[in-house]
Amino acid sequence: MTRRNLLPFLSFIIASLLFKTSHAQQLPTKSPKIKTIIIDAGHGGIEPGAKGTYSTEAQITLQLALRLDTLLRNEMPDVRFVMTRTTDIFHNPKEKANIANRENGDLFLCIHVNAMPPKKEVIGYKSVAVTKKIKGKKKKVYQKVPIYKYSPNPTYGTSTYVWAADRSDEKSKGIIEDERYESSSEVMDVPDINSPEALIKARLWSQKFFKNSVRLASMIEDEFASSGRKSWGVLQRNNKGIWVLQATNMPAVLVETGFITNKEEEDYLNSETGQKEVVRSIANAVVKYKQMIDGK
Ligand SMILES: [Zn+2]
Repeated sequence: MTRRNLLPFLSFIIASLLFKTSHAQQLPTKSPKIKTIIIDAGHGGIEPGAKGTYSTEAQITLQLALRLDTLLRNEMPDVRFVMTRTTDIFHNPKEKANIANRENGDLFLCIHVNAMPPKKEVIGYKSVAVTKKIKGKKKKVYQKVPIYKYSPNPTYGTSTYVWAADRSDEKSKGIIEDERYESSSEVMDVPDINSPEALIKARLWSQKFFKNSVRLASMIEDEFASSGRKSWGVLQRNNKGIWVLQATNMPAVLVETGFITNKEEEDYLNSETGQKEVVRSIANAVVKYKQMIDGK
């Protein structure tokens, strides 16, 4: 650089520095509202969750949660991530909620895998002998009973659950109430959800966090749909199976990432491509949600 063009060059540097400083001063110094995100891998340990032909829900949720944690840490360096489990251990829902609350989470993400019972079909009838008491005497009679054929349930696709707001509340648009996927797992040690105390607590949770939970849930399902998955949309329940959601002091969603009882989806959820796609969709939604909440 010659002395002749050094001066304009220096003045350019000074001007851009001044601009940068003044520009930075103009920007509002908002602190992010989402500082900590809790990632919960559903089930684990003594409680494997739903079973497929060769894998369990607990194995898949852990793999997905670990991948999601890595991906989000990379893309959100200013956020702290806490996993409820990083190995094959069991936590009851109370412990999960305790972890989330103790760590001051701003968002609770539960990763699950769905299941449907086998399809039961009547394919014929047979006669079986039964002993009946007729007029005080034991007699052998024949009864017609159906013959069933069981086949794997073909249902597939994703859905994201939120804790159902008070039934008297006006329902949010796009929410379907659904009891189809009622699961008996993850209900150990869950307090009575119909006790007056529990109802008050749940109502308070809904007032504070229902709206944002639904927003995130919709974003997740939109991402799944645009990645080509079948989306059952945002569903709401208020049963023991998802009690943990309203036990956390933060917006919370439970993502059913696919059906382990559908062979194709079991393969997809166990594959590297499938797992990468699933966590990509969830991460996209979380990034968008954070931008919305932080007002960027
Ligand atoms: Zn589950």
